[in-house]
Amino acid sequence: MALVSMNEFLPKAKANKFAVGQFNMNNLEFAQAIMDAAIAENSPFIYGVSEGALKYMGIENTVALAEAAAKKSGLPIALHLDHGSSFEVAMKCIRAGFSSVMFDGSHYSLEENIKLTKEVVKVAKEMGVSVEGELGTIGGVEDDISVDEADAHLAKPEEAIRFYEETGVDCLAIAVGTAHGMYAGEPNIHFDIIEAVTSKIPVPVVLHGGSGVPDEMIKKAIAAGAGKINVNTENQVACTNAIREVLSSNDKVYDPRKYLGPAKEAMVEVVREKIKLFGSNNQA
Ligand SMILES: [Zn+2]
Repeated sequence: MALVSMNEFLPKAKANKFAVGQFNMNNLEFAQAIMDAAIAENSPFIYGVSEGALKYMGIENTVALAEAAAKKSGLPIALHLDHGSSFEVAMKCIRAGFSSVMFDGSHYSLEENIKLTKEVVKVAKEMGVSVEGELGTIGGVEDDISVDEADAHLAKPEEAIRFYEETGVDCLAIAVGTAHGMYAGEPNIHFDIIEAVTSKIPVPVVLHGGSGVPDEMIKKAIAAGAGKINVNTENQVACTNAIREVLSSNDKVYDPRKYLGPAKEAMVEVVREKIKLFGSNNQA
C-alpha cells in the first residue's frame, strides 16, 4: 500500500469516536517500533516528522522509511510534517512524498494565519495531501519550538470555527491546555472548547502534547471530539530509559543493536497501549 492522506481515516475516526495516533519518527528504530505496534493492533497511524527530525534524518531517508512501512504493513499510514513553519517547507515535503502536512501559523495574527494556511491547503488539496492547521498557542518545548506558559493561550471556539470555514483544513490543532514535552503536574484540559468546536465543524480537532496525559482525560477528549492525538515524548523517554538501563548494567556493551533492540521493544509497548487507549485498534 502507498502512503495515504489523513482523510483515509479521520472522517471514520470522527464518526465512530476514536482517535488516530500521530507518533513522531526520530530515527529508524522509531519508524520500526511504531509500525510493529500498529501491525500488532491492526491500526491506521500517522508518522509525525518535525522540521528538526527532518534535518536529523534527511528528507529522502524519512520518506523511504515511511513508504517501506506502508508497503510492508499494508496499513493506512500518513506521513505528516509536524508544525511546518512555512509554505516553502510544506511544499518541499509534498514534493518529496509526504501525504500530509501541518502548517503552524499560530504565531501569526488570525487573519494572517487564515491567509497563509489557505495557500497551503490550495496546493495540498490538488495533490491529494491533507492539511492540519493550528489555532491558539500550545505551550511547552518541542525540538526547535519553545513556548512559555505565559505565552500559551487557549483557542477561542468561534475563531476556530471561522478558521475551519475559511481554510478548509482536514483537521485542526487547537490549544486546549495540553503542552509539548513532560508535564510537571496534571494538565488542565478544556474539554468544553473541544466540544464547542467539533460540534460545529465536520473535521476532528487534534490534541498535541498527548504524552503523559492521564488515560481518563484522553478518553474524555476523544468523546468531546479529538480525532488525532500526538505522542512523541513518551516514546523518547521509553527509548532512552531502555538504553540507559542496558548501558548502566553492562559496561562491556558496544554493539548498538544490544541497546537499540530493547529501546525499540519499549517503544512498541508504548505505542500499542496508546493505540488501544485511542480506540484505533482494528480500524485499519
Ligand atoms: Zn505539536
